[in-house]
Amino acid sequence: MRELNVIAIDGPAASGKSTIGRILADELGYLFLDTGCMYRAATLAALQQGVAVTNETAVTTLSHAIEIDIKPPAAEGDGRHYTALLDGQDVTWALRLPEVDTHVSLVSSYAGVRQEMVQRQRRFGLRGKVVMVGRDIGTVVMPDAPLKLYITASAEERARRRWLDRQDQGHSNSFEVILADVQRRDEFDSTRQHSPLHPAPDAIILDTTGRSPQSIINEILALAQAAADLML
Ligand code: C5P
Repeated sequence: MRELNVIAIDGPAASGKSTIGRILADELGYLFLDTGCMYRAATLAALQQGVAVTNETAVTTLSHAIEIDIKPPAAEGDGRHYTALLDGQDVTWALRLPEVDTHVSLVSSYAGVRQEMVQRQRRFGLRGKVVMVGRDIGTVVMPDAPLKLYITASAEERARRRWLDRQDQGHSNSFEVILADVQRRDEFDSTRQHSPLHPAPDAIILDTTGRSPQSIINEILALAQAAADLML
């Protein structure tokens, strides 16, 4: 198959886009970039350094100063799919803390934070052969991507998946709390002023409710083939 430089995947919280993006990247031998972890890293930095997440100027300045590195998981063997470093510290699991879930939508709504993260993400995109997952990849970060997907699922199914993930990670939030958080973040992400969550006009929408990741991967591989054929 001819190479696609970028496959852009967007969608709401816990829609399965990261799982699918990761498997897809593995199957194609592409790099996988979960852009949500960059906004999570900025949020964690503010929480760790005592910067009020409501202070847009201070959070924006901090987001420009921090170093974020995403690396292959190496040999940790703790179920991680990548290692995230914040100023050299391994924060892979800290990025999933409930406090980060609570504040990340606010931090990612700041224009200056987004500008900085989008620039960093485009640099990854320039390397080519990358599956990039987020909220605004097809609309803002990589609008020329030859294949854009928007992956969604019902709010209940998404909350159930997130609840199972968080149980595995040792957090004990109830299903109802997680459902409320998922709905709150979707509402916030879809109605924010800068780069709100919505499918690009030319995105293909896939609803994963009740479907296995593999059946979706097969569908996407066929779509990738069709997009590559179009480029011939
Ligand atoms: O995908 P994940 O749930 O880790 O993303 C965390 C948050 O980061 C989202 O709720 C959203 O507010 C923000 N985000 C974003 N743009 C992206 C990726 C994530 O605004 N490209």
